[in-house]
Formats: sequence, structure tokens, C-alpha cells
Amino acid sequence: STFQNLGLQDNLLQAITDLGFEKPSEVQEKAIPILLDEETDLVALAQTGTGKTAAFGFPMLQKIQIDSRTTQGLILSPTRELCLQIANELKLYGKYCKGLNVVAIYGGASITEQAKQVKRGAQIIVATPGRMKDMINRRMVDISKIEYSVLDEADEMLNMGFYEDITSILSHTPDEKNTWLFSATMPKEVATIAKKFMYNPKEITV
Ligand code: AMP
Repeated sequence: STFQNLGLQDNLLQAITDLGFEKPSEVQEKAIPILLDEETDLVALAQTGTGKTAAFGFPMLQKIQIDSRTTQGLILSPTRELCLQIANELKLYGKYCKGLNVVAIYGGASITEQAKQVKRGAQIIVATPGRMKDMINRRMVDISKIEYSVLDEADEMLNMGFYEDITSILSHTPDEKNTWLFSATMPKEVATIAKKFMYNPKEITV
């Protein structure tokens, strides 16, 4: 199959061409049509390196309102490195989405600088749970209008002890949002979080 027949818009297809991606990876082939066509929760079992960032990134970029400055997409990821990597990938995927602002939020860097970036209007925030919770508590970020949330590397986040932070963060987001959970493994802690925060999720495995 091709990226065209997964249902992606021209501005995203143009970025894909620029990146030199020839065809969708398996997780992209499975996830993108579901996420584009349906307002659904999703559990995806997929390792890193399978192209999962694009699997959730392209649908998110296509579905959010880029002409609004409201924060509509929230991606939680376990480490600063992953956060930066995801944010950079999303900027590349969205290079023809005029006005797109993706902001990375993570510990060990200036919180006021990150707050300033958020204040400019970020449609998408990519965050580590600890710093995200801190910024919510300090009213530096508003996630009350989130429509799509991604729990990336959910097993890793739970291994690192982020259960409480994730729970607290998600309690500040609307119940009607969709949650897309990506994990390399499905230990019972991940199943528990899926059960707690997701409604009738579609499931894919690669
Ligand atoms: P990820 O699993 O999201 O960390 O992606 C791994 C790497 O594969 C990243 O450097 C992506 O830019 C690249 N990538 C993602 N999708 C494709 C694709 N369909 N074709 C070629 N490379 C890709």
C-alpha cells in the first residue's frame, strides 16, 4: 500500500516525499487508516524503530485545527531524548502545516523558557510526565482542550514510576478525548492503565 491510499492529505504527503519515505511501515499501515477514519482509542503493540511516531503523528497532524492556537494534542513519552526526537519528527512531518507549533517539555531545562514557548500557542505538546505535571500545577500550561493524547512507550513510562504523574496529567484532560497507547510489551500495569483511561480501544500488533 501507499501513503496516498491511507488517506493522508497533500501537505502531509509532500512532507513524506521530501523525507524519502517510500511506503508505509506495518504499524503505519495498520494505525493510520483507523486513526484518520474513526474517533477511537487505540492500543498498539509496537517496538521503537517501527515508525510509530509517524503512525500517530500523521493522523494527529491531519485531525487537529492548525489555524487555532489551542493545545489539542498531548504526547507523553518517558525521556527527554525521546521527547525531543518526537517533537523534531513531528516538525518534519508538519513542515507544510503552516502555523504549526510543536513544543517539547522535559526536565533539566529552563521551565520558564518552556512556558514561554507554550504561551506562544502550541497545538501539540510532547512531554515527559514529571515536568508536565509540574507545569500543570504551576498553571503554565492548559490541557483542558486536548482532543488526542498519546502514551508513547507506555511500558517504559510505567517502569520508570510515572503512573501517578500520568494519572494526574490525564485528570486535567477532557473525558471525550481519544487516547492512543503505544507499548513494546503489555505487562499488567499497561493493561491496567489502558483499562482505566481508554474506552473500547481498537488493538493492533506489529
Ligand atoms: P520511530 O519508530 O518512530 O522512532 O521511527 C524510526 C525511524 O524510521 C525514524 O527515523 C523515521 O524517520 C523513520 N521512518 C518512519 N516511517 C518510515 C517509512 N515509512 N519509511 C522510511 N523511514 C521511516
